[in-house]
Amino acid sequence: MAVSDAGAVREDEFPGLMMDDLPLTTTWILRRAATVFADRPVVTRTPGGGRHRYTYRAMAGRARRLGVGLASLGIGPGDRVATLAMNHYQHLEAYFGVPALGAVLHTVNPRLHPQDLAHIVTQAADRVMIVDQALWPVWSAIVGQVPVAHTVVVADGTGPLPPGTLAYEDLVVEGPDQVPDDAVANDRQAAMMCYTSGTTGRPKGVVYSHRSLVLHALATGGVDSVGLSARDMVLPVVPMFHVNAWGLPYGAALHGSGLVLPGHDLSPEGLLTLLDETGATVTAGVPTIWMAILAALDAHPSRWNLSQLRTMLVGGAAVPAAVLQGFRDRHGLGVLHAWGMTETTPLGSVAHVPAGVDEGPGPAGDHYRLSQGRPAALVEVRARGEAGLVPWDGKTPGELEVRGPWVARHYYGGDDDGKFTPDGWFKTGDVVTIDPQGYLVITDRTKDLVKSGGEWISSVALENALMSHPGVAEAAVIAVPHPRWQERPVAVLVARGAERPSDQELAAFLAPQFADWWLPDAYRWVEAIPRTATGKFLKAALREQFRDALGGGAQRTREVP
Ligand code: AMP
Repeated sequence: MAVSDAGAVREDEFPGLMMDDLPLTTTWILRRAATVFADRPVVTRTPGGGRHRYTYRAMAGRARRLGVGLASLGIGPGDRVATLAMNHYQHLEAYFGVPALGAVLHTVNPRLHPQDLAHIVTQAADRVMIVDQALWPVWSAIVGQVPVAHTVVVADGTGPLPPGTLAYEDLVVEGPDQVPDDAVANDRQAAMMCYTSGTTGRPKGVVYSHRSLVLHALATGGVDSVGLSARDMVLPVVPMFHVNAWGLPYGAALHGSGLVLPGHDLSPEGLLTLLDETGATVTAGVPTIWMAILAALDAHPSRWNLSQLRTMLVGGAAVPAAVLQGFRDRHGLGVLHAWGMTETTPLGSVAHVPAGVDEGPGPAGDHYRLSQGRPAALVEVRARGEAGLVPWDGKTPGELEVRGPWVARHYYGGDDDGKFTPDGWFKTGDVVTIDPQGYLVITDRTKDLVKSGGEWISSVALENALMSHPGVAEAAVIAVPHPRWQERPVAVLVARGAERPSDQELAAFLAPQFADWWLPDAYRWVEAIPRTATGKFLKAALREQFRDALGGGAQRTREVP
């Protein structure tokens, strides 16, 4: 190897001669947005219902001056700056301005229980909190219990700012000073933090490095991923306080897509109006949002022009077939299903159809579209059953394990709790089958199975089937204690209309699809299913509520085979 000044190079090495040392930082994304895509728009719905518009050029200037303002408060590399905020341009400035300074942006979920909020703000040792004025009640409930030094309020014009707080606009210092582009030299340093939603126990901190966020943003441009491009307008409904809004703000800025940020109005009508007027091409959110949007579109099929919308990215929970097919068959809109977790930044897998399958509407394509898809480039998957790793046969279930450059390798504070394998894979807690082409199908979660007489029953499969009944709007299937079978499934349902289908009707509806011992022992109707802060069913609460639903456990007549 003829590298004259390479004292460190051993005889048996042959180093690549590329610029591998250039750090992959979020500032790199900012620089590209501010130059190549300087005139691309960022549109925000403001609290009064108006629109704030500016360009990536203006956004970048303000983000860098926010960094200067934070530095004037004594914030420096490694310090945590938290946000309690919805999707708007000031939050976007924090996404770039805080990491540009070498500090860490900790997005906090305002829907969490105050106890959890106080716990995570304390554990993360947040020094500054940037809070939307509308979310002040959430913050004021815990501000006395946490060690935050400065509270910065994003004013919404509804009244004076609370005493002792700083105005966000005063922190975006006017003048020539900007955070330098090279403030972060090591791309392994943390840029962002987000806590998991805590469906089972206390939320856990996930700490994203600059490098992981840049690689993840690059991946959002793949055509078999979300395919973000300079011709897109992206409206993330998924909140910027949860998993970096699925990485879409960074992806959009890197690939030159415009951004549309809906602020505090997440009503179906408000979102549809924004999609229409901005000509949004890509939008993203959890299924609950799309169910409401589908109902609004069904009620007023020609009120909004969505002809530009090419992709509705759905994830966070399985997309019901009725939603995917309803958008396509009645409105000509394409749903793209994806799987991910807070721990995977979140892009894990995306459900495009493979080569050789008709891309048009039809059952063959839907089999793939309704799966959790194939792993994103640079994400590796495997699944482990009781007897070890399972074959990729599309049949044998096992717990999904993943690894890749944007997958967590530890939780913050060493809270790992058996979630990582000895050889460095992350254990997702999702139970999947993997087919020979790498398509994942989530059949259940380790925390969510019903074990009846030693046999597993998939609550997810029953829920999906129940939700395709026209009389059922929502269904959660839970395991309820049973004296003979240990556990039996009980379905907790929300009715779609005034008329509730009878238990017999529901059982007859499910019967052709499932072994008869899979059918729920009871059906219970509720006004609403309790949810976690991120919209998932809070099964623990339901299990508690319906603990005695089987009346101490009447004997079943059906035998488990
Ligand atoms: P969170 O970290 O709160 O985003 O939750 C991640 C979990 O949500 C995963 O482990 C899955 O259980 C579930 N999830 C995410 N995406 C999907 C999907 N497309 N289908 C089914 N479950 C999903």
